[in-house]
Amino acid sequence: MSYPIRILHLDDDVNDSELVKAELEADGLACTLRRAETKEEFLAVLQQGNVDLILSDFTLPLFNGGEALSLARETYPEVPFVFFTGTLTEETGVEALKTGATDYVLKNRPARLGQAVRRALREADAQRERKKTDERIQYLAYHDALTGLGNQVFFREHCSQMLATAERDSSPAGLILLNLNRFKDVTTALGRQYGDWLLQQVTARLRQAAPAGVGLARIGGDEFITFLSGDKATVVSLAQSLCHVLEDHPLRLGDLSLDVRCTIGLALFPEHGADPETLLQRAEVALTHAKATHVSSLCYDRTQERFTPDHLRLLGELTQAVTLGHLVLYHQPKISLKTARVVGVEALVRWRHPGRGLLSPEQFIPLAEKTGLVKPLTQWAIAEGLRALRAWLDQGLPLTLSLNISTACLLEEAFTDHVTALIESSGCPPASITLEVTESCLMADPARALACLSSLHRLKVRLAVDDFGTGYSSLAYLKDLPVDELKIDKSFTLNLIKNRKDAAVVRAATDLGHSLGLEVTAEGVEDQQTWHGLIAVGCDTAQGYLMGKPMPATDFSAWVRTPPYGAGS
Ligand code: C2E
Ligand code: CA
Ligand code: CA
Repeated sequence: MSYPIRILHLDDDVNDSELVKAELEADGLACTLRRAETKEEFLAVLQQGNVDLILSDFTLPLFNGGEALSLARETYPEVPFVFFTGTLTEETGVEALKTGATDYVLKNRPARLGQAVRRALREADAQRERKKTDERIQYLAYHDALTGLGNQVFFREHCSQMLATAERDSSPAGLILLNLNRFKDVTTALGRQYGDWLLQQVTARLRQAAPAGVGLARIGGDEFITFLSGDKATVVSLAQSLCHVLEDHPLRLGDLSLDVRCTIGLALFPEHGADPETLLQRAEVALTHAKATHVSSLCYDRTQERFTPDHLRLLGELTQAVTLGHLVLYHQPKISLKTARVVGVEALVRWRHPGRGLLSPEQFIPLAEKTGLVKPLTQWAIAEGLRALRAWLDQGLPLTLSLNISTACLLEEAFTDHVTALIESSGCPPASITLEVTESCLMADPARALACLSSLHRLKVRLAVDDFGTGYSSLAYLKDLPVDELKIDKSFTLNLIKNRKDAAVVRAATDLGHSLGLEVTAEGVEDQQTWHGLIAVGCDTAQGYLMGKPMPATDFSAWVRTPPYGAGS
């Protein structure tokens, strides 16, 4: 309330206004009075605002007090309303109080006016305070006190509303779950108040990156959630902006500089869920997965559910295995069927797990492929393979090196650059290196695959289609690929002698390869008969347990000096 008291006086008599002013001032209350006689005037003054109190006559020639009261209650319920009238019976007075009047004073007892006004204003003040407290309680029920962001309840309600709208309009939406990395370390090392400070700084940055209309909430210690309508591209792009705004530059507090890193899980409506609970749970699955595999962001994918806690533990350990040197590269000889000489090796990764022993790639490569982890793993395998090749070339062994490349790596934009750099620093001739990509990998995104293979081909490295026969390649398509070699899948070779259908596949694949000018290799040669069968078919090279199992580089160096290689020479 301001002072002097600003009174709206609804009365047709100027003298009464003077009387009011005089009475109140005599009682020590300074006031300004604006008088209204009609409904229009009454409303006009109210709408100007700045009214602390309404004082109203009950009967007026052009308007009436009862109607004024209900109008005022509707539009300005917080302004106290006191009747000052000569005509009010006790009954109407009580009735007026019931319908919302604050008090009534009879004109023949004006001395009571000051007391009534004081009380009315005190009550109005108290009511305003109560309202503020209510609003604060309401706010706290929906917001997080530390950051001012929405809380769990806010998220559930607002996300439900958003999803209902999306459902009605058949439009997509998404949820981004963001978790700060190593937040616990910060609070442990620096104390809780730094943790709080960090959360506030993070909030400020998130607000900055989140456009208007996007829901933002903090639902746990260091877990933030954003939900928005839009397709996958929109959601992913916001996730990237959030990540960027957090990681772009460190947070500063005096001399202290803190790098903020986050991990993000995404879930989309309608494909991953139709209610806040399900979407949140799925975003959590994606987030857990992203953390375990040390990638910054992942979108939910049903296959992530298949990852048992054991898988996730293994993935976590695999990340370390790359850096701790627990991975080893085995080499399987590749033999010419024409000369029975070793022409090259295929590098095959193994994991010397401290607790589980030597793990075969089948036990961890599929896991690594579903996450970003296969990329560092491949980088490592390429570098390690090239190191071994360089040593053999230096010893005068004219070998080639074949490396297995996963889809995710092949389709990665920077892959060609990475390979170029690794080859250059190894000093190995590109023509002695073959990159094997599986047939199914090529079919996953043929246009992209073609572009990637073409750029690799320009490096002069050789390219091979691995596991040929299992992926239903279109032969017409194969003809347009810049590949040099075709590797017939071992499932056909293993049955070459026993099964006529498989023998027919091996023969057809060999002929096809040759007609396209490709070298044809058969994997999985386990006996002499198969070896001779392949020679009969016209295959060029072979790999198999008959000639040599995959072995560590040092074993291979010894093995290669002791021909013949178990085969039919
Ligand atoms: P792949 O590229 O088809 O490799 C051939 C697999 O057949 C190897 O299994 C090899 O040990 C096995 N093999 C060789 N000769 C015979 C034989 O005479 N009989 C039988 N039954 N099997 C034979 P390995 O080493 O367990 O590798 C399995 C798969 O793991 C590979 O299949 C390849 O797809 C993947 N892999 C291995 N190393 C890497 C790598 O460094 N990067 C990627 N992305 N994948 C890899
Ligand atoms: Ca291979
Ligand atoms: Ca193969």
